[in-house]
Amino acid sequence: MNAPRTTFPPLKSLDVALTELLSHAAPMSGIEDVNTFDADGRVLAADLVSALHVPPQDNSAMDGYAVRCADISALGVVLPVSQRIAAGSSGQPLQPASVARIFTGAPIPAGADAVVMQEDCEALGDTATVRVKTTPQHGQWIRRAGEDVARGAVVLSKGELLTPASLGLAAGIGMKTVSVSQRLRVALFSTGDELVMPGDVAPQDMRPGTIYNSNRFFLRALLQRLGCVVTDMGIVPDQREATLDALRAAALDHDLILTSGGVSVGEEDHIKPAVQALGELDLWQIAIKPGKPFAYGKIRKSGTDFTHFIGLPGNPVSSFVTFMVLVRPFLRQLQGASQITPVATAMPAHFNWPRADKRREFLRVRRNAAGGLDLFSNQSSGVLTSAVWGDGLLDNPPGRTIAHGDTVQFISFLDLMG
Ligand code: AMP
Ligand code: MG
Repeated sequence: MNAPRTTFPPLKSLDVALTELLSHAAPMSGIEDVNTFDADGRVLAADLVSALHVPPQDNSAMDGYAVRCADISALGVVLPVSQRIAAGSSGQPLQPASVARIFTGAPIPAGADAVVMQEDCEALGDTATVRVKTTPQHGQWIRRAGEDVARGAVVLSKGELLTPASLGLAAGIGMKTVSVSQRLRVALFSTGDELVMPGDVAPQDMRPGTIYNSNRFFLRALLQRLGCVVTDMGIVPDQREATLDALRAAALDHDLILTSGGVSVGEEDHIKPAVQALGELDLWQIAIKPGKPFAYGKIRKSGTDFTHFIGLPGNPVSSFVTFMVLVRPFLRQLQGASQITPVATAMPAHFNWPRADKRREFLRVRRNAAGGLDLFSNQSSGVLTSAVWGDGLLDNPPGRTIAHGDTVQFISFLDLMG
């Protein structure tokens, strides 16, 4: 007798799932002005246009003497020092056949067309005259007005992620505050009756079948790295009513509800039916490894008002990877960021991976000193050590085996977290 055959629709590819996910992520409208000191890591909400040249005037790149090249026809010319210009002051036009003592950052006096560094000069007697021991090139050691930023230029664009360097640049054009998108409010909870919090039970007292809650720690940290305000709702039991209550409460004051675990097909997996009861489930299960049981939906608050919902798998590595490849781009798009997905780098594999998988795989790998990638020995979705040992993911297409020396795509964890 033939067994009845059940056919399942093929799982969605990551590209299709990500496109669908992002189609739900209309950027949030809230913006706020924050002190430039406090803006690291925020997403800029409006172009920053410079109202001045940076540097504002031509200035000296060296401590030395501002000269007219025409006055220095031969090596060893001796000229009087007609003025002294320090940073923060401005001098007089340079008299012909004289030089100006000048310091780094001080404005170039009118008429001067080069700076000779003090190492190439010899101050004579009471420093009223100087011997120039080189013949300068026109324009040497002069930093030109506007060479960093021209007046009217867009120095930072809407949607850019602010970095320490961009805070300096914003300050350099006079911005005391910058306009950024408001922080996203994310409610986080873990499901699983097996979960115990570190500190609540000592390792030697753990009951059989229980494990410590790992996901709560890295998910909270990943969310915070992306600038989110996290409401940590702790652990929710594997019960239908408890799950419904938690989702209803989380929907109230948050932009996103993020959960881990309970989103597979077992009888103890209550997330999927609870989301369907309180709103809609738009996306479920993706053809990636690890991370197949990923879910996206919406929890209705009132009328057409809803809160985004994302359910991550319970296995720690699955949770970690799906956060990086799906949740991070989703949050960045809600924040109005222009760069959503990280760039992969082509690198040689320094290992063999003989087993092809139907799903697209994200292997935990580490860059080595020889310019290649090493593979962590255990790629199980429960082995979080792989994510600590590794410094990034190898993005391996479906059905692909890897031989030592093959070129593969690498994405660093830093790019996947930032
Ligand atoms: P689930 O997706 O709920 O079926 O969980 C899959 C696996 O991940 C099970 O072995 C769980 O015990 C484990 N797991 C679920 N949640 C967590 C968590 N927060 N921390 C560590 N392991 C977890
Ligand atoms: Mg579970």
